Amino acid sequence: MCGIIGYVGKENAVPIIVSGLKKLEYRGYDSAGIAVCLKSEKNEKDELKNWFKVVKQKGRLSALEKCLQAKPLISSIGIGHTRWATHGEPSDVNSHPHMGSKNKIAVVHNGIIENYRQLKERLLNKGIEFASQTDSEVIAQLAEYYYNGDIMETVVKVASRLEGSYALGIMCLEQPDTLYAIRKDNPLIVGLSEHGNFIASDVPAVLKHTNRVYYMEDEEIAVLNRDTVEFFNIDKEPIQKQIETITWSPDSAEKGGYRHFMLKEIMEQPRVVRDTVQSVLPGLNSENRTVIEKINIGDYDKIVVTACGSAYNAGIVGKHVLEKMCRIPIEVDLASEFRYKSPLVDSRTLVVLISQSGETADTIAALREAKSLGAATLSIVNVVGSTIAKEADFTLYTSAGPEIAVATTKAFTAQLILLYVLSAEFAVQSGRLSGEEHRWLFDEMLTLPDKITQILEQTDDIQKYASECVGYKSIFFIGRNIDYSIVPEGSLKLKEISYVHSEAYAGGELKHGPISLITEDALVVALSNSERLFGKIMSNVEQVISRGAKVLLIGNCPYEDDSGPVCAKISHIDIPQTLEYFSPSLSVIVLQLFSYYVAANKGLDIDKPRNLAKSVTVE
Ligand code: GLU
Repeated sequence: MCGIIGYVGKENAVPIIVSGLKKLEYRGYDSAGIAVCLKSEKNEKDELKNWFKVVKQKGRLSALEKCLQAKPLISSIGIGHTRWATHGEPSDVNSHPHMGSKNKIAVVHNGIIENYRQLKERLLNKGIEFASQTDSEVIAQLAEYYYNGDIMETVVKVASRLEGSYALGIMCLEQPDTLYAIRKDNPLIVGLSEHGNFIASDVPAVLKHTNRVYYMEDEEIAVLNRDTVEFFNIDKEPIQKQIETITWSPDSAEKGGYRHFMLKEIMEQPRVVRDTVQSVLPGLNSENRTVIEKINIGDYDKIVVTACGSAYNAGIVGKHVLEKMCRIPIEVDLASEFRYKSPLVDSRTLVVLISQSGETADTIAALREAKSLGAATLSIVNVVGSTIAKEADFTLYTSAGPEIAVATTKAFTAQLILLYVLSAEFAVQSGRLSGEEHRWLFDEMLTLPDKITQILEQTDDIQKYASECVGYKSIFFIGRNIDYSIVPEGSLKLKEISYVHSEAYAGGELKHGPISLITEDALVVALSNSERLFGKIMSNVEQVISRGAKVLLIGNCPYEDDSGPVCAKISHIDIPQTLEYFSPSLSVIVLQLFSYYVAANKGLDIDKPRNLAKSVTVE
């Protein structure tokens, strides 16, 4: 959460920073701000002096843009920030960048300074005045307090005092051509381009200018000038780092004519699923394939999947498929709970961590806990070079490309594919699947992109249906068995972007409580992809219809509309046939589109839902 960017180069930093912030807005949108160094501006005594100009505005980036359009700025160096407030309400004054009280040092911060109260108290006792309620301001004030002409020394001293997490961009008025950066437990990259150099929280922010980046490690310091970038360790010794070439195209971080990133990302799913399956095809000499072949399920007694949000929901589907195919016990734990529950993992446990960004703070903490207990760790992530990818023993990459909408879609479907692949591999290794069956599973996975395309061709019907559902105050998602594993994701998607209350239940569970909430105002979305359970889910459908609810039935089980009173209450969306194991990958496309169009009909800001942000780097 929070996006930071910095630029130093030959061009005007202001439009570069603003367009980079647009690509980082998914990380937070409570406020945005920019600080640039204006050289040779006259101060009040008519002296020529360098000067920081800070413009910051509560609200969306567009508010900051308006200010900058009204009073354009030109500078070859600057830092910018888009905020997801953790300490201090969203307001102009709490927006970043923050300055020391002598206006010598400007800082943008992503993270949380856990000991900020103690530090602030001390600085207040020394007569230093604070302008904001944020934890971040303490970094700028502390830096100025320590500053003795050596900014590198100052950065090291400040870092030694901070507890918590941070990615920092720092400018000092006395070195107006140099940008400093340091991180701990929050992501930061350094990008090199023809016209200048960048720091940023994430690759899409710089993709328009360069695909050559360095991934910073904890407690490394980057020193950027127009033509040079140097790295130092916390002892101020120079270090060499390896430059990485990003394969994502600059267009992949653009809307490409769609109204929202979310719709574009939903539509990209046939390509994402195809690329992800193809990245692990047996016999292929690929990074993912090599990793898969290194993992031997015989080394483990159980698997624990740990993740947050939709990635956790992918884990629930994974548990269902892995357990059935491999007959190995799987637990799925919320990463935010994992380290507090004295998890039962040891060296005979494979802990699978799922995170789109690879920077989810809770999942990083779960990874470290699992490692400290001796477990083997396998991560499924989308962002190359991310913390989780680097720290896990094994890493499989989803081929989703940059995902910008806050509500995940394509990264989720790619995670499912890798979980199916693991199931198939482990089933072969444990003698539960023959080579021929294994090939057959891959063949079936390779048909999924076309089947997803068929669903995407029904978008108009889903849109029409969703437009009739805007008035519902509560929507229930039900399913049985494999369908029960995917309904939590349908429910979460709806909550996230349309702000409609929803619940996900196993069909058979309704009668044990939640059916009391079913009235004429309720919509029930029922999934039916299991032929042997079709009769059972239809009984549940009848039960809710008897209590006044309307039903949206989604699935591949043959459903006949007999024009009777029950069917009159049912709308049906047919999806292509596939193996039951893989049906969540098709159902979820309808569920995503349904949520998207409910939200679109309500006129909501779908890519930036209320109170949410992507890449949850705070605990
Ligand atoms: N703690 C800082 C603030 O509230 C940064 C928040 C973040 O990185 O999410 O301003």
